[in-house]
Amino acid sequence: MVSALNEVLIIGGGLAGLSAGVALAGAGRRVRVLEQSPHLGGRARSFLHAPTGDIVDNGQHLLMGSYHSTLRFLTEIGTRDRIALQPSLRIHFVEPPGTLSTLECPPLASPWHLLAGVLRSDAFSWSEKLEISRLGRAVRQGYECTDLTVEEWLTKLGQSERVKRGFWDLISIAALNENPRRASAAVFARVLKLALFTSASDSCLALPRVGLGDCYTDAARSYIKARDGETVLGGRVESLMVRDGSCEGVRFADGSSSQAGTIISAVPWHEFVRMLPAELLRAAQYFMNILSLRPAPIISISIWMDRAITELDFAGLRGTTVQWIFNRGRILGSGRHHYSLVLSGAHEHIGRSKEELLQIALSDLARLFPAARDSKVIHSLVIKERFATFSPAVGVDAVRPAAKSPIRGLFLAGDWTATGLPATIEGAVQSGYTAAEHVLHQC
Ligand SMILES: Cc1cc2nc3c(=O)[nH]c(=O)nc-3n(C[C@H](O)[C@H](O)[C@H](O)COP(=O)(O)OP(=O)(O)OC[C@H]3O[C@@H](n4cnc5c(N)ncnc54)[C@H](O)[C@@H]3O)c2cc1C
Repeated sequence: MVSALNEVLIIGGGLAGLSAGVALAGAGRRVRVLEQSPHLGGRARSFLHAPTGDIVDNGQHLLMGSYHSTLRFLTEIGTRDRIALQPSLRIHFVEPPGTLSTLECPPLASPWHLLAGVLRSDAFSWSEKLEISRLGRAVRQGYECTDLTVEEWLTKLGQSERVKRGFWDLISIAALNENPRRASAAVFARVLKLALFTSASDSCLALPRVGLGDCYTDAARSYIKARDGETVLGGRVESLMVRDGSCEGVRFADGSSSQAGTIISAVPWHEFVRMLPAELLRAAQYFMNILSLRPAPIISISIWMDRAITELDFAGLRGTTVQWIFNRGRILGSGRHHYSLVLSGAHEHIGRSKEELLQIALSDLARLFPAARDSKVIHSLVIKERFATFSPAVGVDAVRPAAKSPIRGLFLAGDWTATGLPATIEGAVQSGYTAAEHVLHQC
């Protein structure tokens, strides 16, 4: 048994685990991050796509100016400049047969930037602009929506079918990764308030200009190493060792173990309940609640074409199955005609074969971009993430656990813990920071 009672063990090398590790290492604590897989990054990772030599992300990730913890994390590890933040919010929409419209907000103080952006946008009719402004007012005034789904809330606030399907569906599914008929209006209203109504720069969108690995995993690892810590790859934890209400260490698959007085679990909820001794799971409502969480899938489709089909960096797609397109070749400056398509909240599609999903994406592209009709597909890659995020269904706030667990010395982090945010990069980093704060102030 390895004894290192003064070190903090962090289980999971995704954004939550790495941000906790960086915060603790920066505060002078020795940390050891145990990651089961051969690479860091978890659900926000990148890898080399051998047939093209391109770096591909596990799924396209979009950030926002409101991701304050994330931007602080990237600044701390020295990679903030790898994220390109829009100077002001601008979203293009494309709908069949190729109609382009834009929502562009001028650089005014919030909320006037949004109001002006919506009013002068060619994406909505005048009556739709009034509907959207009405919803904006309700969000700012804190309209009560605790027990409502997003769909019910939008209907209650007088949003027409066209605005719901052609605008709010795109925004809410991207933000929550869930069907508006299941997703919690309370979580959505919170996201809208934080992202759109705090400051104009918070509502700007941001894209990594490099693969996610280059964005943070390597830099976080070096940061921790430079402060006498380590990240161990292939270090799968089988179970937590708990005695008399205190966490004492972790056990590995080969039967070996590692002692630690303080542990942060930064694994997804379904892994956490597997690592926890069964009798403890049943002993506290705090743990039992976690069993109510459900997953929501995302499908990412990468397509390499023989020619450019659009000059846009990214766009929301209306009236199609696929919801967003990202022009990876342009964003990363690879010079290739590489497009990443996103289908979030993809419960109805996750059972389809990869070939079928590719055909759906190609048929959507042909309806949207004339150049796609004659182009040839050089390579493609379909990634189905069944457990992409937890489902932010109505009532989810009540079951997400706080960072401090009922077991002494055990803290939880991860995008699924009680951050108030949906499962996002920002939620994960915020949870890592919160767990680190608890560790630093536990004595
Ligand atoms: C396809 C896709 C697209 C997304 N798009 C966006 C987006 O555009 N914007 C956004 O903000 N968010 C997005 N997200 C969500 C975001 O990626 C996640 O919220 C975030 O990465 C979660 O980080 P985490 O550290 O909480 O969990 P994870 O990334 O899951 O990290 C947990 C880590 O723990 C490891 N682990 C698990 N079990 C064990 C064990 N027993 N022992 C040791 N290690 C273990 C795992 O291998 C993993 O590396 C997207 C997610 C997906 C899947």
